[in-house]
Amino acid sequence: MIETMKQKTAGLIKPGQTIGILGGGQLGRMVILEGRKLGYRFVTLDPAADCPGGQVSDRHVSAPYDDQEAAASLAEAADMILYEFENIDPEIVKKLEQQTLVPQGSRLLELTRHRLMEKQALTRAGIPVAPYVAVETEADLRQALAELGLPAVLKTATGGYDGKGQWMLKTDQDVAALPAELFQQGKTLVLEQFIPFQKECSVVVARSVHGEVKAFPPSVNLHRHHILHMSVAPAPLAEGVAERAVRLAEQVADSLGVVGLVAVEMFVLASGELLVNELAPRPHNSGHYTFDACLTSQFEQFVRAVVGLPLGPTTLTSPAVMVNILGEHGEAFNQAYGSLPGQVKVHWYGKEKAKKGRKMGHVTVVDDLESAIAWIDASGIWPPLTEQEKKVIYDR
Ligand code: AMP
Repeated sequence: MIETMKQKTAGLIKPGQTIGILGGGQLGRMVILEGRKLGYRFVTLDPAADCPGGQVSDRHVSAPYDDQEAAASLAEAADMILYEFENIDPEIVKKLEQQTLVPQGSRLLELTRHRLMEKQALTRAGIPVAPYVAVETEADLRQALAELGLPAVLKTATGGYDGKGQWMLKTDQDVAALPAELFQQGKTLVLEQFIPFQKECSVVVARSVHGEVKAFPPSVNLHRHHILHMSVAPAPLAEGVAERAVRLAEQVADSLGVVGLVAVEMFVLASGELLVNELAPRPHNSGHYTFDACLTSQFEQFVRAVVGLPLGPTTLTSPAVMVNILGEHGEAFNQAYGSLPGQVKVHWYGKEKAKKGRKMGHVTVVDDLESAIAWIDASGIWPPLTEQEKKVIYDR
């Protein structure tokens, strides 16, 4: 009965209605900050009592993600449920789908939390990806190495993020040094050919419950120690590449029937060829620049897409460079805080404990690329860009 009533409201969720979010991290926090403008109420579920999302939601349920009762109470309290990260058991989401609206759906979650399934779905849709082979046993690995050769990258199918669960294999010694237990747990792995890419770029695309599709301008992304360090928009790319990246990302959103957002991370080869590396079914760190530098932010667009509003214009209003503030940058950031120029837009996530590698906040410098980089390098908050990193950003 409840199900039918909620289904009827599927057309448009209106201001004053409540959106539940599985996950209380910074992505949820920024979705809430933007969703509040439109008048929505929010309830969050996260194991941490004092989490970035919980600090700004109307109500916070502090419980593990696999707590069925807590998930059910979230569904009871909300008119629709979103997830803001993909390490959630799709079975929980499937159950929630029977209780209330979950516009992103469990299918996209199932695909994007499993590297092999994701690559297979992309391949079926005709989207180019790095050559790969599924691996479960040591014999599979030998076979896969014979097929793809070295260098290669071995990745766990599930649970890996920010470089965890990933092994770069350059030599036979690297292969021999792989942890033996990798093959003893019946885990699925994926061996990928190493791609000597020129740059990495990404496109965040929204697809609404009505099937409207709109992409944000691509960004070029720089990683340090496997964690996103910097995103630059407009993306310094050779002529025509940005347009192709947008088309490819839209094709991904359409072919997978995405509802909400999908961030499409790509490798850009020197030839201009694009290969899709990874998808995220939610707002993405590389789209944070949109908060300050686009007519609509990725967070507002996410809300628009799922509640049934027309999508907002994604036009870039200023060139921008986003830089993450990790735990290790916190002290220098604090010292610089009082004298940050006005073009440096600060987003602080309110996390209690600073840890090395933990994303504590970010800044978006809304200025032309050269001025933005000059300020970032001189700020003393982050180690300055190396010559190699500058080349990655500036070379087209
Ligand atoms: P992922 O977890 O798949 O996003 O990988 C993290 C990072 O590792 C990517 O952003 C790349 O910088 C690097 N990487 C992953 N796969 C490959 C590959 N096949 N070839 C070269 N570099 C890769």
